[in-house]
Amino acid sequence: MTFTRVEKRLGKFGEHNAWRTQQPHVFHQFENFMKWKTLRSVLCLGAHADDIEIGCGATLLELQQSQSEMKIDWVVFSGDATRAEESKACFERWIDANRRGRLIAYTFEDTLFPVQRREMKDAFQSLARVCSPDLIFTHRSDDAHQDHRMVAELTWNTFRDHTILEYEIAKYEGDLGRPNVFVPISKENAERKVKLLADHYQSQHSKPWYRSETFRSLMTLRAVECRSSSGFAEAFHGRKLTLSN
Ligand SMILES: [Zn+2]
Repeated sequence: MTFTRVEKRLGKFGEHNAWRTQQPHVFHQFENFMKWKTLRSVLCLGAHADDIEIGCGATLLELQQSQSEMKIDWVVFSGDATRAEESKACFERWIDANRRGRLIAYTFEDTLFPVQRREMKDAFQSLARVCSPDLIFTHRSDDAHQDHRMVAELTWNTFRDHTILEYEIAKYEGDLGRPNVFVPISKENAERKVKLLADHYQSQHSKPWYRSETFRSLMTLRAVECRSSSGFAEAFHGRKLTLSN
């Protein structure tokens, strides 16, 4: 992970050098790249069948190559039988057999998560009883889709001692924000993400936004913002950062 964007933003407004002089230790913290710590368990949460793959799919491919102990639990909160089948098939191609944890497919009604809040909260409490992950990928709290927001809200509400990264999904409403956590992605993993998304979820292919160019272009843009040498990156919103000795 990297926090170099802090440096860029301050530089743009001409405050970079003054701030660096006044806060040299703080600047040093943010100047460095941070490495993933050893991850034993990752929990991925998605409102709909393809959200996890779109939001953090390439990062999951990267992590599988670097984290020897890691298991991945995968939870999708809605979907009919067709989408559940697509999701299962995608999970099995995306995640190596020795890294697969739980695959849980709930059947909450699509687009109506806010009116199912009580039942969804129970589902999250059930998850918390069986999962205590080192890292959670979930939706953004300010995502324009109401189902995505509900999953984000309940993630923070349920998992209070966990590291949470919120992933982004391009959509009609144009709600992309300014992410502050970047993961450089190799060209191979970026293209694998694009191919897997194209191969699966036939039910989505009629949607005009569900195109390889959509997925590739967002990774390209995020690569510009974190100076990824491969030309690809995924980005996340890390809302809290705790520093300790
Ligand atoms: Zn979705």
